Amino acid sequence: MDNFNLTSKVALITGGNGGIGLGIAKGLAIAGATVIITGRNNSKISSALSWKSPTNKSLASAINMDVTDEKSIVEGIQSIASQFGKIDILVNNAGMNIRKSPEEYTLAEWNSIISTNLTGVFLCSQKIYPVMASAGHGKIINIGSMTSVLGIGVTAPYSSSKGGVVQLTKSLALAWAKDNIQVNTILPGWIETDLTASLQATDPMRYSSITNRIPAQRWGQPDDLVGAAIFLSSKASDYVTGISLPVDGGYLSS
Ligand code: NDP
Repeated sequence: MDNFNLTSKVALITGGNGGIGLGIAKGLAIAGATVIITGRNNSKISSALSWKSPTNKSLASAINMDVTDEKSIVEGIQSIASQFGKIDILVNNAGMNIRKSPEEYTLAEWNSIISTNLTGVFLCSQKIYPVMASAGHGKIINIGSMTSVLGIGVTAPYSSSKGGVVQLTKSLALAWAKDNIQVNTILPGWIETDLTASLQATDPMRYSSITNRIPAQRWGQPDDLVGAAIFLSSKASDYVTGISLPVDGGYLSS
């Protein structure tokens, strides 16, 4: 039996219409899963749905879902569960950042980051729980960050949200181990996506210092997260829960 085969599994990936989420979505589809992506930007959703792998794999479906809106989450999960009959894997990937000094944030900016990156993970996990518990199994993968562990002066709300994701992961893992639901976090290193695209132009010194600290001597690509995502989605990780797995080219060890 192939421990990593995802054939017959249904996976839901929030923010799967671009960047890391789309990279993971493609990887899970290639591993055999039926993959449904969510996002808010419909043109990015359409473009993601037009992807085909060399072996003719594609994404199964997409829904417009805002992870800061409880009603949107409830309706989205209900619609996917009824259309596909189950949801085996949830990847809580949707996220955002605003970089500035702590004294400059408005309360609205703070709240939007916490609401997207932390409360959104909680709500999507909470609303999917009955679907997974009634099926007798489930895999929840949260996307943390280097800032889950390290402080950064210009990302106070983002770091707070991503540190919270690690603690939330442990709490959900303990609560739902009895339901055979494994909950884990991936901690991506520095990955080239829309979220980080401006850094080289806006803060070249910081960009260079980050780049120089990466032992692998390169920034990551969304594809670099796929192996960890397949492991944490598959039977291979059935006895792994509550962990935070860095996929960072060695950054945290340097
Ligand atoms: P992108 O900006 O490329 O992707 C972010 C995704 O989140 C988009 O698909 C976006 O969809 C979605 N999203 C944002 N807000 C919402 C919302 N309220 N409701 C639903 N979807 C939303 O960034 P990345 O791919 O880099 O980021 C993906 C995740 O990885 C984030 O959680 C990020 O914090 C994390 N991460 C990224 C790192 C990096 O170096 N790039 C490093 C560590 C962690 P739409 O555009 O449709 O709104």
